[in-house]
Amino acid sequence: MQQIAHKQRQFFDTGATLDVSYRKEQLKKLKSLIKRNEEAFIDALRADFQKPPFETYGTELFIIYQEIDHILDNLESWAKPNKVSDSLLSFPSRNRIHKHPYGVTLVIGAWNYPIHLSIVPALGALAAGNCVIIKPSEIAPHSAALMGKLINEHFEAGYLHVVQGDADDTQQLLHEPLDYIFFTGSSRVGKIIMKAAAEQLTPITLELGGKSPSIIDSSADLDLAAKRIAWGKFINAGQTCVSPDYAYVEESVKNEFCRYFDMHIKSFYGNDPSQSPDFARIINEQHFDRIANLIDPDKVLTGGETERSSLYISPTIMHRITWEDPVMQEEIFGPILPILTYRHLDEAFREIKNHPKPLALYLFSSDKKTQQRTIRELQFGGGCINDTVTHLGNLDLPFGGIGQSGFGNYHGKGSYDLFSHHKSITKKATWLDIPMRYPPYKDNLKWLKRLKKIL
Ligand code: NAD
Repeated sequence: MQQIAHKQRQFFDTGATLDVSYRKEQLKKLKSLIKRNEEAFIDALRADFQKPPFETYGTELFIIYQEIDHILDNLESWAKPNKVSDSLLSFPSRNRIHKHPYGVTLVIGAWNYPIHLSIVPALGALAAGNCVIIKPSEIAPHSAALMGKLINEHFEAGYLHVVQGDADDTQQLLHEPLDYIFFTGSSRVGKIIMKAAAEQLTPITLELGGKSPSIIDSSADLDLAAKRIAWGKFINAGQTCVSPDYAYVEESVKNEFCRYFDMHIKSFYGNDPSQSPDFARIINEQHFDRIANLIDPDKVLTGGETERSSLYISPTIMHRITWEDPVMQEEIFGPILPILTYRHLDEAFREIKNHPKPLALYLFSSDKKTQQRTIRELQFGGGCINDTVTHLGNLDLPFGGIGQSGFGNYHGKGSYDLFSHHKSITKKATWLDIPMRYPPYKDNLKWLKRLKKIL
């Protein structure tokens, strides 16, 4: 760990990464490396949790290609210093904000989108001119091993390197002097990372999770709402940070919504989802046991089947749920949708506000006032009106949490800005030196006040 951090510091100090064309070359090389190994990535994710190839391409590789292409198209303009106007104190001068890399960056990934969550933050860090150590999650071992092999064989270790390891290895890395830490994972580990970063005053971004609500009122297109929530819920078998964790449905339309939801489960995965090639498995036995324990057979409306040997949990709807049920005490991170109901929207808003601020929130309503109220009154990382999950695929929408779901935003230019120190420079003219600021001040205060009135 020490050696790799030292190598990166040395490489950063050569100044090679300050050159925008060098960064672009390296990003092109990374894209071509991933493209040449697409099948290997699909196989690795299949081995990790039977992730369907369409989902691997769509939610991991496609997102990476899109991000790289966007960076390549825009990097030169992002990297230009921003001109700002002069100030009273600095007149006459030229003022610029220069974007400068932090140095050695550590990206710690989560297992649920193991390639995406390790590579996409790294792309932003590289685009901004940093050196990057990636620590993928050991919980998706095939994906971590493939990334480690490919990247470490093709990139200078001082520039970009993958360290494979567990919590102890990550702790060792955290003891090294780092210039930026980007963490994706649970709130529990997020606190540990933040404490370690505080020791060295290292800036940090935390991309965490939580219980993201979907609210469905009686004005919504219920068929479409059920379809889009089912898609967002069951992609990756519910192991998605922005998955709609639960549905908060207006009581009068609950039965109709559940009927549509059940219908869409069958239309997506057939009568026996365990036979569907399009439905992933739970990552490991520990998570399987945790999720299976959240299923209350008395409250299952659809699904509820589990098979530990194949880590299969069927798409499940649970109804007659209250905030006291075990399924409402933690982020589900699995294919269960609990249904809560409300009579007045105020009730739903009150409960959501009484709980930690979620990473995402989804509203299904055709009522403009309700749409505006939701955006104005509720605090959450980001979200969609009449859809789920897709906000994170738009590179012009910075992505991140608030409160317990984390802080700091990335994707697209958001990533470039996140991984850049904004260095403000005033270049002062030498042909004029206004004497007013220098002692002895005499009547200067009077003049300063007059000046303030004019300006
Ligand atoms: P996790 O917190 O268990 O692990 C994340 C990373 O931290 C892994 O690389 C792991 O090796 C490392 N780690 C674990 N314990 C550590 C310790 N004691 N010290 C140092 N490092 C340690 O999270 P996970 O199970 O991989 O991911 C699931 C969580 O991540 C969910 O809460 C989910 O919502 C959240 N998540 C958030 C986003 C987002 O973009 N906001 C994306 C995906 C997942």
